[in-house]
Amino acid sequence: MSNTADVVIVGGGPVGAVLALALGNAGRAAVVVEPHAADDIAGPTRPVALSYGSRLILDRLDAWARLAPATAITHIHVSQRSGLGRVMLTARNAGLPALGYVVDYGGLRTALAGLLAARAHARVMRGAVTKVVPGHDRARVEYSCGDASGQIEAKLVVIADGGAIGDDFPSHTVDYRQNAVVAVVSTEKPHRNTAFERFTPAGPLALLPYDEHYALVWSVAPEHAQALCGLPAAEFACELEREFGGRLGAFSGVAQRAAFPLILKVTADSGSPRVVRVGNAAQTLHPVAGQGLNLGLRDAWELAAELARTAPRDIGSSAACSAFRARRRLDRSGGIGFTDALVRGFSNDLAPLRTARGIALTALGCVPPARDFVMRRMVFGPRA
Ligand SMILES: Cc1cc2nc3c(=O)[nH]c(=O)nc-3n(C[C@H](O)[C@H](O)[C@H](O)COP(=O)(O)OP(=O)(O)OC[C@H]3O[C@@H](n4cnc5c(N)ncnc54)[C@H](O)[C@@H]3O)c2cc1C
Repeated sequence: MSNTADVVIVGGGPVGAVLALALGNAGRAAVVVEPHAADDIAGPTRPVALSYGSRLILDRLDAWARLAPATAITHIHVSQRSGLGRVMLTARNAGLPALGYVVDYGGLRTALAGLLAARAHARVMRGAVTKVVPGHDRARVEYSCGDASGQIEAKLVVIADGGAIGDDFPSHTVDYRQNAVVAVVSTEKPHRNTAFERFTPAGPLALLPYDEHYALVWSVAPEHAQALCGLPAAEFACELEREFGGRLGAFSGVAQRAAFPLILKVTADSGSPRVVRVGNAAQTLHPVAGQGLNLGLRDAWELAAELARTAPRDIGSSAACSAFRARRRLDRSGGIGFTDALVRGFSNDLAPLRTARGIALTALGCVPPARDFVMRRMVFGPRA
């Protein structure tokens, strides 16, 4: 089977789906190639924090109202274990109704897939892409679906596969030697829409308000993560309380435990026309400060805006691809640098660094313009 299209999107995850929907709003058609059917993608609960800026994107695509539950984060308490210094970031100081929201990743995907299925501008094809071949006038996408295979030629191929393919593109990878243990936990005290980011020598520990509970993202050494996942729930809750402290009372009701390896992977765009990368396919970040998906959604939104401005004959041209990459450079390098610096600077127990971190956290709380700049940058990216 052979086919042609203006734009092919490899991967119908949140970033690929948002791109297809935003293109549709601009009257531009796209073909999405995704191996999983809409009713086969929800998977186990994995809460993710979306910034208020991401909410605005999803609102404009009529997707936000379909997400439930979406628990508002109005306060973020940042601290370090066994060290001084803390800061409270608040939606009020940022002049926003919320700094962000915690939603279920699977629920988000299901909502976006439902919207895509109803849109005339987007065609979703079931298949796993095996190869993307850039060319001068068009790029070729080869895919397989069961025993069948096929190819599509497009003016522009957008790789949004979460980083699954693309080993033929050069990439820069850092293995943080940390795994994220995720779980949904209950606490003695109510969350009052407050998230916690607590830096420990082993890695950051985040608690995100999620419905009536907390979603935990706890970064530790891989062997410790395996041990934590294997503990009986009550022992896990004790370990968590030992690490986090007693601010929320006792932990209980531990559910949905899983571990994810954590890396930084930045895949270079070849600089050639016809192929660009968005979301995790371009940059896979450590989940500290919950930046990865938010950055990916801004990738998708900005690419759709760039394509809406581009004359149909110039879609995928060298100039159009370069304009998109230039537009995303600051936000991407900021997100990569910010998360990498947090992980490296905070995941240790060196006394001079501990003191410097304490001073930095205290200073951030005492200098409102600096605090508000950091907050708005985290929420909206550099176009705050
Ligand atoms: C523990 C953890 C916690 C996180 N918490 C947060 C958070 O709080 N906030 C935040 O912003 N980010 C968070 N992230 C990061 C976030 O999950 C990712 O940035 C986000 O999922 C990337 O979306 P994506 O659409 O680019 O890729 P994915 O979500 O990986 O989707 C990729 C899609 O491509 C499809 N695909 C794969 N291979 C192929 C192929 N060969 N052909 C076609 N399609 C293919 C897949 O089926 C999938 O549908 C977290 C990550 C982890 C690991």
